[in-house]
Amino acid sequence: MAKIAEITSEKIEVLEHSTPQEILRWACSEFRCICLAASFGKDSVTLLHMVRDIRPDIDVVYLNTGYDFPETVEYIHRMEKDWGLHVIEFSPRISVEEQERTLGADLFHIDPDRCCGIRKVEPMARALRNYDVWITGLRRDETEHRRGIHVVEVANNLMKVNPLAAWTADDIWHYLRENRVPYNPLYDNGFVSLGCRPCTLAGTWGRFERAGRWAGTSKAGGECGIHVTSSMIEYGDAETDPHPEKESDR
Ligand code: SF4
Repeated sequence: MAKIAEITSEKIEVLEHSTPQEILRWACSEFRCICLAASFGKDSVTLLHMVRDIRPDIDVVYLNTGYDFPETVEYIHRMEKDWGLHVIEFSPRISVEEQERTLGADLFHIDPDRCCGIRKVEPMARALRNYDVWITGLRRDETEHRRGIHVVEVANNLMKVNPLAAWTADDIWHYLRENRVPYNPLYDNGFVSLGCRPCTLAGTWGRFERAGRWAGTSKAGGECGIHVTSSMIEYGDAETDPHPEKESDR
């Protein structure tokens, strides 16, 4: 098994020009403490389909914000059962009810950064303490912010692998149709990028597919924070639980 510090810049350069399957094969063969972060949108399920032939028992980390669409929750349960996925669910420290009682019923509109911090960034930082490497479905063509992502990114002794970085939305849909992969039914209702129910609009709202996320707020078309290194460090450092552990080994 390799150590993150041993990965050479030459290898990283080779991976930049490798296929998603080659990248996944490399990551899964070189690292044991590895997970795949899945929101169960089209990009996640593409990776889940690819990794089935490589490491079918990989930990699939799912952040249960409590605000997911019912269709997404039902889809996750179906995929978990049909594909035998090893889904590990991480939840925020406070329930939706507690958040709405103490911080207001519409924190996601008033202060979406804070809501995402509580319901996504902190749980993800907690989840990632269990791993050396995480695989994500990020693509460069999703937003302006993601244009600069690399296939392999290392920060704070954690390696992020983005096998789909160079793929477009068309590549994803071609792959899913070609391989008859069951996708989240919300796409057939006009959604182009999926997130939490209160913060996701159907339809195409701008040049990038994430334009319908947090529409009408300061965060419009932006990032929840789990892919922004400074947010992860902040929440990772703030967390004081002395016994971090997997919360729900489903
Ligand atoms: S996407 Fe919206 S509801 Fe979900 S955690 Fe972020 S602000 Fe809250």
